[in-house]
Amino acid sequence: MIFSQVTLAPADPILGLTDAFKADVRPHKVNLGVGIYKDEAGQTPILSCVKKAEAILLETEKSKNYLGIEGVQAYNQAVQKLLFGEQSSIIANKRAVTAQAPGGTGSLRVASEFLVRNTGSTTIWVSNPTWANHQNIFETAGLTVKEYRYYKAETNDLDFAAMLADLANANAGDVVLLHGCCHNPTGIDLSIEQWKQVANICLEKSLLPLFDFAYQGFGAGIDEDAQGLRAVAAVVPELLIANSFSKNFGLYNERVGAVTIVAEDQDDAIRSFSQIKKTIRANYSNPPAHGGLIVSTILADASLHQEWQAELTSMRERIAEMRGLFVASLKAEGVEQDFSFISRQNGMFSFSGLTKSQVARLKDEFAIYIVGSGRISVAGLTKNNMPAVCKAIAQVIL
Ligand code: PLP
Repeated sequence: MIFSQVTLAPADPILGLTDAFKADVRPHKVNLGVGIYKDEAGQTPILSCVKKAEAILLETEKSKNYLGIEGVQAYNQAVQKLLFGEQSSIIANKRAVTAQAPGGTGSLRVASEFLVRNTGSTTIWVSNPTWANHQNIFETAGLTVKEYRYYKAETNDLDFAAMLADLANANAGDVVLLHGCCHNPTGIDLSIEQWKQVANICLEKSLLPLFDFAYQGFGAGIDEDAQGLRAVAAVVPELLIANSFSKNFGLYNERVGAVTIVAEDQDDAIRSFSQIKKTIRANYSNPPAHGGLIVSTILADASLHQEWQAELTSMRERIAEMRGLFVASLKAEGVEQDFSFISRQNGMFSFSGLTKSQVARLKDEFAIYIVGSGRISVAGLTKNNMPAVCKAIAQVIL
């Protein structure tokens, strides 16, 4: 039999955890694995601006005809403004081309396949650690993955000198995957000065930055979180961006993201875009419309845009509050280890420093699910589940 040769794939480290969580019958279980935002009631509600945009679409949509290969054009233009800023010379000089794609994952995949098929850039450097799916996506597309150092366990902080040293060993044309903000899994981002140094090393060594930008607005704000990207784009002539609206619009299951290429000039951009479209055509032909239309409807309407900003701000502020409460509650539970670094990290995640065996005990003994690396989704913490989580952590580390 042909299929009898097929081996069993290992469960995905993050989504596999969600399956195990769903199967757990303990009523007090807590899922701090997957990166989804939960409100104070532990729910992941639809944003009110999204509901309003959907009501508009229900009224105004007249056809379910195919989109073009590149998706909703107004959406693609709106994406560029969020990435580079309204007044960006990159936009004015038509150096950027954007295609809507299914989520950040689909965008990364299209970007990777475009590189493999059309350029000599077939090695990609990713941070150690990085989002668990990066290696999977890049290798499947045919890129060779190498790692640059990023995190120093002893200090629970960035190892910037090591990062620069490793990038200095990359070859001309190599791709460097950079997390635009809210680094997953560590929550540790570069300062603006460090971004400028990374930009300079990319320029000097002719490295090609690929930004994974899945959390714009979850760090400090829409424009604030794009500072690193904009600083790099001001220095290097070429780069790529794979962005996602799964988190900042709460549109996880609509699969809405985009792949953007910034080329040295408009001619290069036009030719590159033709190959991006060819890649998309061979994969899924054209993207689903609904998510892109929701986002472009919101971003085109001043009042919905404002409402989105306010809702995003409240998500960001709730996570920041949970960070502070988490640190304080651990202390209150008698944990002597210094966890104050958690309140300095950005975005949904915190790299807790918990060991594999402590993570396993949290799951087995306390029904608390976190990723094996010790990554905690702070966005899943609430005032209600905080005491149980902190008590359990105190028990496994004491
Ligand atoms: N990139 C990073 C760093 C992520 O954390 C995620 C989602 O968790 C993605 C990309 C993928 O986002 P999407 O769900 O839009 O495919």
